[in-house]
Amino acid sequence: MYSEKVMDHFEHPRNVGEIENASGMGTVGNAKCGDIMRIYLDIDDNQIIRDVKFKTFGCGAAVATSSMATELVKGKSVQDAMQITNKAVMEALDGLPPVKVHCSLLAEEAIHAALWDYSEKHGIKIEGLTKPKTDIGEEEVEEEY
Ligand SMILES: [Zn+2]
Repeated sequence: MYSEKVMDHFEHPRNVGEIENASGMGTVGNAKCGDIMRIYLDIDDNQIIRDVKFKTFGCGAAVATSSMATELVKGKSVQDAMQITNKAVMEALDGLPPVKVHCSLLAEEAIHAALWDYSEKHGIKIEGLTKPKTDIGEEEVEEEY
């Protein structure tokens, strides 16, 4: 049902944790499987994403897609991070079962929510960025996974 890459990222998720005083933080949720995902971005003065961490309370596909999404945005400029879609994350994972596609959507939205937070806090305009509808703001994420 799941590709080897999905299983690998589920069993050994990359970049799990928090960043204190993050440049941007975004939390999104989906009602369908109750996944909640929070992404922290550390962005330098040149708008390069130096570090990224995530916490996910959700299903295996949500864990795997957040993990892969953090790998994809790390070291990228905020503008390049904008180009990383759920499709790119899914392709990097060699696909997901159709019922789990909504979980990959969350990874893209969490990145956008964190970038939105960054752009608001620092007064920086990011081309093509809008506030994700699934943004659940400061709501507490109690546990990892
Ligand atoms: Zn899910």
